[in-house]
Amino acid sequence: MGNGRLPVEVELDAHACLQCGYCNFVCPIQLLDGQGWESYRVRGKMYHLKRYSHPGFLGRIIGDRPKLSGEFVERVYNCTACGYCQIACHAGIRFNDRWEQLKEWFVEKGLGPLERHKALRSRVVAKHNPYDEPHERRGGWIPTEASRSANAEVLFFAGCTASYRQQRIARDTIRVLNAAGVEYDVLGEDEWCCGSPLIRTGQTDVVTNEEDGLVKHNLREFEKRGARAVVTACAGCFMTLSHNYQIYAGKHDFELYHMTQFIDKLITDGRLELRRPLMRRVAYHDPCHIGRHFGIYEEPRRILKAFPDSSYIELPRNRQNAQCCGAGGGFKIQFNDRAERLASLRVEEAVAAGAEVLVSACPFCVTNLSQGAKDAGIDLEVAELVSLVADSVS
Ligand code: SF4
Ligand code: SF4
Repeated sequence: MGNGRLPVEVELDAHACLQCGYCNFVCPIQLLDGQGWESYRVRGKMYHLKRYSHPGFLGRIIGDRPKLSGEFVERVYNCTACGYCQIACHAGIRFNDRWEQLKEWFVEKGLGPLERHKALRSRVVAKHNPYDEPHERRGGWIPTEASRSANAEVLFFAGCTASYRQQRIARDTIRVLNAAGVEYDVLGEDEWCCGSPLIRTGQTDVVTNEEDGLVKHNLREFEKRGARAVVTACAGCFMTLSHNYQIYAGKHDFELYHMTQFIDKLITDGRLELRRPLMRRVAYHDPCHIGRHFGIYEEPRRILKAFPDSSYIELPRNRQNAQCCGAGGGFKIQFNDRAERLASLRVEEAVAAGAEVLVSACPFCVTNLSQGAKDAGIDLEVAELVSLVADSVS
């Protein structure tokens, strides 16, 4: 049959799909094309997979069965890994894993990934980051005021975006940790890409390789430092370390925090006090990879409300119903214009709600939302939560 049998769980879920269509109306991709074509929609993709795996009596006799064409593969990669379809699905399909399994299968069968995704793989193999930046400059963001400890309470995993593209976020994290008197260490050149962009695009061999895969390397570095807790700046790194690494390497024995959780804890424990007010109306954009995927909704909001004279605004679409900014899942690298269009829509929502600053808690969201604002000619400040905190405490 065509390219062979689909991964069993994907096939079973394609059959479990009720074709009810609730998923269609939440998927951010439909925001890009009016009501969208069914082939771009979750329901249409599931129907195609069902017919591919079980073409029916006539299909088997005359060989008339759906093909997994290049167009179909392209439709599946039209996905930001936002996790909204999993929340909406009336059949309880675990889409967060299924889309990744399907893309991994595409790569095994030579059907995927898409052209620009292939460049990600070669860059990560050669330089351990997807941005084609020299590996030896990975620690270039580390400021002189970083006071690294050999007996660290936490290890800060900066991630590729904060290490190379949004260095202010990594430096502001150091300001916050210093202000709270936390003993910490950073990995610098010993840190490699967590693997998120490769996992989301199905290119997992580089991530899981037993000898020198990304999982093996990063976990070995954590172990060398005796890490008791790891803190990530990036929502994508958090999801990868907490979910995917456990699939590949089993349960880890360190605590994992996204920076918003850690700052919230520092404030609650009385170790950090926000002293300077924000002076602007702020709204929070939930990054999908800590929001819908992990339910980290209240920690960032508690932080924003802890500023003196806080004037916090809730966006109409928030928490599990937040609109994706368009950056994730390998979508931005392949379909940058479409990703920025989604970001523009989110920025427009923030302006309409009366926000003066749109805050997020992920360097990748901040990058895309800033570009979306610029594209749409909207004068709205996009900020990272840790930077606002750093300005308030130091
Ligand atoms: S994860 Fe998000 S973008 Fe991808 S299919 Fe589901 S709803 Fe659409
Ligand atoms: S909500 Fe779930 S069951 Fe309904 S069409 Fe979408 S994938 Fe199928």
